[in-house]
Amino acid sequence: LLLLAIETTCDETGAAVLEGPRPPAEGVPVVRSSVVASQVDLHDRFGGVVPEIASREHVRQLLPMIDEALRRAGVGLDRIGAIAVATRPGLVGSLVVGLTAAKAMAMARGLPLVAVDHLEAHLYACQLAYPDREVYPSVGLVVSGGHTSLFRCRGPIEAEPLGGTIDDAAGEAFDKVASLLGLGYPGGPVVERAARSGDPAAYDLPRAFLRDDRLDFSFSGLKTAVLYALRGQDQRGRAGADPGPPPPQVAADLAASFQEAVVDVLVAKCRQALRRTGLRRLGIGGGVAANGRLRERVSAMAAEEGVELFIPPLSLCTDNAAMLGVAFAKLAAGQVADPEIDVTPGLVRPPTR
Ligand code: ATP
Ligand code: MG
Ligand code: FE
Repeated sequence: LLLLAIETTCDETGAAVLEGPRPPAEGVPVVRSSVVASQVDLHDRFGGVVPEIASREHVRQLLPMIDEALRRAGVGLDRIGAIAVATRPGLVGSLVVGLTAAKAMAMARGLPLVAVDHLEAHLYACQLAYPDREVYPSVGLVVSGGHTSLFRCRGPIEAEPLGGTIDDAAGEAFDKVASLLGLGYPGGPVVERAARSGDPAAYDLPRAFLRDDRLDFSFSGLKTAVLYALRGQDQRGRAGADPGPPPPQVAADLAASFQEAVVDVLVAKCRQALRRTGLRRLGIGGGVAANGRLRERVSAMAAEEGVELFIPPLSLCTDNAAMLGVAFAKLAAGQVADPEIDVTPGLVRPPTR
């Protein structure tokens, strides 16, 4: 069975063609093609995603991306046997573009439509990346622009929340700190690059809940601490003064100290979740999982704890449609979407059926 997957939850327009495992309930799909059109250049000057621009750009990009995914897979739409689309969570206007296209194609061709949860898809990227290994049951961490959440994953479509951020997501903190440091957008890659020439011990930044047993996160205080550290650099020392971008070495030291604080907390909470659940596997998905320092530190932790670690390659960490391969597990479980299904922008999690 060939499946066409569509991802438009935020500011990346993704399309992919996946070939299902046989028998359907077993194995991992093969990615026949996966293409992503990123909108970063359009949102760059605003320092974050502008929802209205994102939806309009999805309208412009989606059909060409679908054509390109089919072309690269070497198949026509007539060969596609099912359509999968991410229907939650995300920006409402962005989600609507993908769902509308998916519904129209499914209806026109009489194909089953599968509604996918974007977070389950980020976690499934771990299984896609390691098709020959058993990823479940595992602790799953989604760490991205909008989420920092821990799950107990009994299977690809059985993720139970263990905890999450009470304010900003880790990726959002990277983006805001990059903007404070005058490094540009998106924040993750530029902060990581600046951090390479900085001292991670230069600034003593807060690590929320580090010694607490709760499996929750908070990153807004860390972001504010970076702002205060920057104000300390203001020669005039004016209260509330906009510090402006710091000199390069200060930016590098702050970037490194900030990144270390985020990574310390993420690694500690994964360790706590593993110990608490007794699970021996850890999967990490989402854009921040592309961070080299996180990958290094979490690998060391997994080795210490004797657990198996699954982190996808970078292209499967940030938004893409291939990770919607989780749809095959839903098809195997008979979870086909109602033709009237709507998007669910927020974190309320009604069934995707
Ligand atoms: P969500 O998945 O929560 O709906 P999203 O889809 O926008 O949000 P992703 O594409 O999964 O998020 O991830 C984007 C985020 O990942 C951005 O905040 C970006 O700064 C961050 N990111 C990307 N690369 C890195 C990196 N190397 N280090 C740290 N963060 C990174
Ligand atoms: Mg994005
Ligand atoms: Fe995402």
